[in-house]
Amino acid sequence: MISVHTSPFAELGGRDAGGLNVYVRELSRNLVEHGVAVDVYTRRTDRLSPQITPVEDGVRLIQVEAGPAEPMDKDALFCHLPEFATEMACLAIKEGLRYDVIHAHYWLSGWAGHLVRRYLDAPLVLMFHTLAHLKNAVADADHRETPLRLQVERRLVDLADALIAANPDERREMIRRLDADPTRIYTVPPGVDLDRFRPADGWAARRRLGLPEGPLVLFVGRIDPVKGIDTLFEAFRRLIHDHTWTGPAPRLVFVGGLIRIDDTGSTMDADLQRLAARAAELGLADHVLFHGAQPRERLPLYYNAVDVCAVPSRYESFGLVAVEAMACGTPIVASRVGGLRFTIEDDVSGLLVPHSDPAALAAALRRVLVDHQLRSRMQVGARQAAVTYSWQAITAAVLGVYDRLAAAHRAVAAPDEVRAS
Ligand code: UDP
Repeated sequence: MISVHTSPFAELGGRDAGGLNVYVRELSRNLVEHGVAVDVYTRRTDRLSPQITPVEDGVRLIQVEAGPAEPMDKDALFCHLPEFATEMACLAIKEGLRYDVIHAHYWLSGWAGHLVRRYLDAPLVLMFHTLAHLKNAVADADHRETPLRLQVERRLVDLADALIAANPDERREMIRRLDADPTRIYTVPPGVDLDRFRPADGWAARRRLGLPEGPLVLFVGRIDPVKGIDTLFEAFRRLIHDHTWTGPAPRLVFVGGLIRIDDTGSTMDADLQRLAARAAELGLADHVLFHGAQPRERLPLYYNAVDVCAVPSRYESFGLVAVEAMACGTPIVASRVGGLRFTIEDDVSGLLVPHSDPAALAAALRRVLVDHQLRSRMQVGARQAAVTYSWQAITAAVLGVYDRLAAAHRAVAAPDEVRAS
């Protein structure tokens, strides 16, 4: 696996650590259960950690020197990819490693994977996780993806041996906008750990997390404009000022962004400070509970503690948070975009609303919060929908892609041996 710009084993919930990281971790772990050993290559961002770290049985994290050994903006990484590819290849050759398949994640790793094939003879599978032109379609002027990324993604659809699309829409876009060859695209969604994410006692979860009584809405995710946090805050302002609302006012539990706790107290990172200031400006200081990024083992408590999970993204390739919440039997209110349109069945497992529309989001949240019958029905629908995304099934599908490519590659590399066997 290649994940240049973010270590799949990094703390989640920061700016660049989210669904891609979880996907690589979980897929790697599940591949091991199918007898596949996995090395995950990432760029070194500190001087001290060892080059090769066994993360768990069958999975190793390998850190490659490329550019300064410190965190860097991902937009500045492209020019370090040749160095990454050379270093990765030297290390693999020195250690005597041979790979059957290289699976790259995100466009930067796709390019690194393409470059590394000058040295390592293996087929390249690419998963974009997000596509620049889909992000740009909903981005404001300050957050548009670069022409370089658009250009590289277009090249990569030809250079990779196989592309994995997270949903049918992404597949269609790759064909229509990037001229991808349909026979090389496999549609395989990410999975969810159904043992970890499952329904549990909501009141007990609230008590353990120290959450108050009354209606609770949950947001879990990276702080990125694409996540629609501005829309959620505005929707919440409307809910709070809704004079027809009776009973305790709803609260928003916000999971994401880094909060450092030390002897002097707790400090929010700059992104969270900005969000907290925005919440205060909107009169939501008492209504948004900032809990910071949470480790995976605590997330089921959050999903189970709340009445509804909001996923207000402007674009979402898959939307792991929605499926994790659904696996816990928590109804979703989400934007009708990207993968969310396929994972959530409107009115069955959640409610779908137009993105960037605070009024529609507020109305849908209100509906779920006040209508107990609707909520109970959707709790059942949510879990039922989520069980179709078990990692066992998803890993088998990805392995099918690997097997097919590896066999085709062997046939080209050594046709006589393959025929003889
Ligand atoms: N996540 C987490 N802790 C946090 C915030 C997020 O473990 O504090 C995980 C979350 O459970 C999910 C992933 O990060 O598995 C986010 O994936 P999603 O597909 O929803 O969004 P992306 O990051 O890919 O945009």
